[in-house]
Amino acid sequence: MQAQCCHRAALDRTAAFCDDCGQPLLRCPAFEECGGLLDSDGCCEECVAPELALDADGVRAARVGGALSLPLIVTNASRARRPLFVKGLWTREAGGDWRAVEVPWERLDAGTSAPIAVRAEALERAGVHQLEIALAVATRHQWREEVLAFTTGLALTVEGEEALTVQQNITYAADAPQTGATIYAPLRVQAAESPCAAPAAPKALPLTRASRLERALDLRGYDDGTVVPRTVRVVWRGFGDREAPPAGPIGGSEGLLTLGRSRARVGGGTNDARLLALAGPGDFSGIDEAASRGISRQHFGLCVENARLVLRVESDLGAWINGEQVPRGTSVLLRDGDRFSPIARTRGCLAVRASFESHHGVVETVTLTRF
Ligand SMILES: [Zn+2]
Ligand SMILES: [Zn+2]
Repeated sequence: MQAQCCHRAALDRTAAFCDDCGQPLLRCPAFEECGGLLDSDGCCEECVAPELALDADGVRAARVGGALSLPLIVTNASRARRPLFVKGLWTREAGGDWRAVEVPWERLDAGTSAPIAVRAEALERAGVHQLEIALAVATRHQWREEVLAFTTGLALTVEGEEALTVQQNITYAADAPQTGATIYAPLRVQAAESPCAAPAAPKALPLTRASRLERALDLRGYDDGTVVPRTVRVVWRGFGDREAPPAGPIGGSEGLLTLGRSRARVGGGTNDARLLALAGPGDFSGIDEAASRGISRQHFGLCVENARLVLRVESDLGAWINGEQVPRGTSVLLRDGDRFSPIARTRGCLAVRASFESHHGVVETVTLTRF
């Protein structure tokens, strides 16, 4: 939850920091629609508000056997009225592997709900069966997509042939200090039919953000576990005085840096950084005018997406990333040491190298060096 002061400060689209508390203003990519700010884990609460519930009445009708179908209801409670996209649903019994559940639909408009049936296996023996459910949802804005995962838990108690109890089971996020703590909430659903019982209302299953699971399921961050937080500091090297912004977090109203031939904002233009071909390799004394004409006014977009640094090729002319040609409209994940160039090496001298400085798997600084 972001402070009121930051929400107020964010209304000035040019502000990069809150002038009250000094925190960087991390606007949601869809800020124009939602007015939301991201939390430190990259989640906009205005856009991303999934709710999961157990259709208790559906469970009552189910019979105890080797497996049980649990009818779940996913709701998009976005206050900003923005659609959510369900990227995946997984279940696992305590200590087991995650099993993907087929979700026959993807888009969920704000204020709407849709059902998903989840199978709980191996309920032959009496006793308590822990079932964890993970839900991954995405919010989209233009070409960008932010995927976030949440978990919840259920305890299924099989007491014999007839009586099945479903208990709501709140497990804290694995990262939280209360690891493994479990609370049994007062939800009790009997499988045994009771002729006079009124239909039970859907029971909410509280969702907890699961950042470790996001990395395990390869939804966010790099495959080695490294993450680029939205607060990462970007440092520019080898750019002229009025060609790149001062070092700092990615600001702007959409959290997107633009690079191209047009002048940089610090030089009265529209880009974050200006790209012009050098007269020779490492020669900052002059500009190769002819080669620079092969660079589009806005050639690249650069942002943090799903805790990764992502470069978007915006030019019809394509680009070169680590020496390979990449067409317009391609989003490429940038790793430490990767290089990109708006022009072929044979046509002029200009490339940018991204280097990461990280501590404990968190990238704190990205240095973009023009050479
Ligand atoms: Zn503030
Ligand atoms: Zn938002």
